[in-house]
Amino acid sequence: MKRREFMKGAAVAGAGAAAAVSTLPKPAIAQGKKELKMVTTWPKNFPGLGTGAERLARNITAMSGGSLSVKVFAAGELVPPFESFDAVSSGTADMYHAADYYWQGKSKAFNFYAAVPFGLTATEQTAWIHHGGGQQLWDELSKGFGIKPFMAGNTGVQMGGWFNKEVNSLEDYKGLKIRMPGLGGEVLRRIGAAAVSLPGGEIFPALQSGAIDATEWVGPWNDLAFGFYKVTKFYYYPGFHEPGTTLSSGVNLKTWEGLSADHKAIITAAMAAENDLSLSEFNARNNGALNTLTGKHKVTVKKFPDPVLNEIGKASGEVVGGVRSEGGITAKVLDSFLDFRKQSIAWSKLSDQAYWNARLLPFKYAG
Ligand code: CA
Repeated sequence: MKRREFMKGAAVAGAGAAAAVSTLPKPAIAQGKKELKMVTTWPKNFPGLGTGAERLARNITAMSGGSLSVKVFAAGELVPPFESFDAVSSGTADMYHAADYYWQGKSKAFNFYAAVPFGLTATEQTAWIHHGGGQQLWDELSKGFGIKPFMAGNTGVQMGGWFNKEVNSLEDYKGLKIRMPGLGGEVLRRIGAAAVSLPGGEIFPALQSGAIDATEWVGPWNDLAFGFYKVTKFYYYPGFHEPGTTLSSGVNLKTWEGLSADHKAIITAAMAAENDLSLSEFNARNNGALNTLTGKHKVTVKKFPDPVLNEIGKASGEVVGGVRSEGGITAKVLDSFLDFRKQSIAWSKLSDQAYWNARLLPFKYAG
């Protein structure tokens, strides 16, 4: 009996083990499926940024019929936010969703693929990268780090930031502890501010504790979500430092080169779609959030005085031009960007800018 009970028990245990095995996912290779890990610099499901990364992942997965799925990791879930680039470069992760100015410590050329003070707007930036030679130079730059880069979102023109006192002159920036990433941060350091770059999730605690006096983040929709209005009440515009910030997704180059032609086409199309979906979502949601900030939360919206913008503009020209000293690919990117900026200003004067001015003339729709 004892032996029979033992055998029965063994059979049950065996059946249990078999059942347990059958509930485990089959190895991806056996199913002919591939899963990519995407790390991001954004808090989980943060409006527009985290949700944009999730939407991109869903679209790649759906367009491939599930043969290529993307799993998203929020900031800190797999690696700390600012280590996303190294994680993809080394193959710890397959792709990132971020803004490339976070990698300016690797090369200052990365700034041009996120935002440049007094640089290109969202539509101009997209035009430069897709049709003005920007992508080829970005590929060359990122290849050095084992990454294939894509545009994958755009915030549009950002706001200038949150301040706990008014900005009336350049003196108000002296010693100001402000969160501002990229070349914008360098511009503010040049006029005397103590600018720091912090990942999104660290900004509110820093502002609340007084570790920083002021911050920029994105625009009304994103800034409302972080609750900066609880600490500061002056909300300045325009965001001269980020006139159309590109969000980016870089894919590990070996992973990219190992993909089939159809998977490459799916990723390329999903990235371009996300660039458009993202910008349109920011433009659709910002004004409603601004009304909440000013109406419900009594935030005061102010424009930077023109003399301040003029001085910051001069410092921006020096900082942006100064990246040439890095030489190599950085100088090539700078030249291409500045050429495109010149032609964009010329065309925008007759197109967007002229139309926006005309639209402000008094008239009424018929009917
Ligand atoms: Ca920003």
